Amino acid sequence: MKKDALLAAVLSSDDLPSLPTVAAKLISMMSDEDASLNDIADVVSMDVALSAKILKVANSAYYSFPQKVDSMTRAVSMLGLNAVRSLALSFSFLTIKGNGKSEQIDFETFWHRSVAAAVCSDLILKQLPGTANDSVFISGLLHNIGQLVLARTFPEDYEIVLASVEDNVDELQSAELTLFGVDHCFIGYEVAKHWGFPPSLLLPIRYHHSPKECTDDDLNAKLATQVIYLADLLLNILYSSRPDIYHEQFNREAREILDIDQTQIESILEEAPTLIDEAGANFGLNAPETRPIQEILQAANARLTQLNLDYDQMNKELVKAHRALERLTEELQRKNALLDDLANIDGLTEIYNHRYFQTALDKEVSRVTRKKVPLSLILIDIDHFKRFNDNHGHQVGDLVLREFSRVLGANLRGYDTLARYGGEEFVVILAETAGQEAFRVAEKLRVAVESYVFEDDQDKYRVTASFGITCFTPADSMSLDKTQLIKEADNALYDAKAQGRNQVVIHGVSKASWRG
Ligand code: GH3
Ligand code: MG
Ligand code: MG
Repeated sequence: MKKDALLAAVLSSDDLPSLPTVAAKLISMMSDEDASLNDIADVVSMDVALSAKILKVANSAYYSFPQKVDSMTRAVSMLGLNAVRSLALSFSFLTIKGNGKSEQIDFETFWHRSVAAAVCSDLILKQLPGTANDSVFISGLLHNIGQLVLARTFPEDYEIVLASVEDNVDELQSAELTLFGVDHCFIGYEVAKHWGFPPSLLLPIRYHHSPKECTDDDLNAKLATQVIYLADLLLNILYSSRPDIYHEQFNREAREILDIDQTQIESILEEAPTLIDEAGANFGLNAPETRPIQEILQAANARLTQLNLDYDQMNKELVKAHRALERLTEELQRKNALLDDLANIDGLTEIYNHRYFQTALDKEVSRVTRKKVPLSLILIDIDHFKRFNDNHGHQVGDLVLREFSRVLGANLRGYDTLARYGGEEFVVILAETAGQEAFRVAEKLRVAVESYVFEDDQDKYRVTASFGITCFTPADSMSLDKTQLIKEADNALYDAKAQGRNQVVIHGVSKASWRG
């Protein structure tokens, strides 16, 4: 809804509260310079119930006059024009309640906060010497009248606003703007203007959330606006969920805006709760006792400490859980690596199996292609092993296969890959190793095998082995083929066997590449 349309809807709404007669008269007299004490007394006396309420307050402990105040005229002369008018207006407005259309909106609390704002505004103003401002109490009482108007004319929408804001009083305005396109400052101002409020009351209603925007020449109205703005901050210390923040803000802004010193600030904070409770009682409002500000701040502080502790504790537990998870992950990785290994390890000799050899060779071949480094492969076959088994039995044969693997392993570098190719055949991948060096390694292995004495409880045994090497030296024109590499190693091994066994034979991958 557009701003103007909404305002028109509010002003023509049956739910717009009508101004109580006495209040209307008193307000119009505020701008009448000639109105006397007696005029005010007369107006108030017209409403018997209202007069009774005012006399009750005049005779309360709050004022503790020595004599009974028994007439309106006497009340006006003893309490002062301003006090009686404030009381009368307050009582009149406080009769404006809900219209039964919302169960959520709590008008009792609204008025309690309004009375509290009035009391606090008065209290703050008293700290400023020489600043008489007759209407600040009334301004404080009515500054949020726009909330009441919106709540009565659009109860369902206003329930949504209040629910969305909860304790974040700061967000009320923006929630109103979102839903209505206007805030309570605007609506309050327009409705109060419609009711004929004087400017001294209108400006605080309009600017109590943004006192800097109040550029009117009326210094009293401006001061009232600033005072009410600060009173609202003070109420937030008392009634919001973050008293610490508002306490800090109140201290700072009271100094900045009104130049109030620390002693004055402390006396305001000290007196506010008692004065609010007294006023609440005088206006017959049911509200829980307001706690001393020091106590409120301590409780908030304790809550914050507790929050921090909880956070700390939570953090510690998270760290602990995280460590446990890390340990589990490590354990899992270890187990997985172990499983991987098991799948890659030959059961008898406990060196890598054929499967692993194939994968490792694939990797090596692609590395060679990328990095243009040499690669050698040695195929090893135990000589006459069938005969050995026949002579000494399969068990001794197994023992030899195990020991044989260890002898080979002991004579290789860490980064060479030794695997059981199958049966009594073994294979070694020599990474980044060219022909000459591969030959030297194979020869070293051959001698180690030849000279090694295998032993069990029964006997000592010796075996020899034949070695076939193939070697790839990177040449730009040629890509390396894994099958070809193995095949040539096998050819070399065949040659070694053919030439009498217990020897090393080396081939290139292909005759062409070897020569080239
Ligand atoms: P060559 O010098 O030509 O290689 O003769 P060889 O007898 O070693 O070759 P052949 O391929 O004829 O025989 C291989 C033998 O290796 C046959 C088999 O009994 C033996 N062998 C293969 N695997 C095992 C094993 O796991 N344990 C034992 N004890 N012997 C095995
Ligand atoms: Mg064989
Ligand atoms: Mg053999």
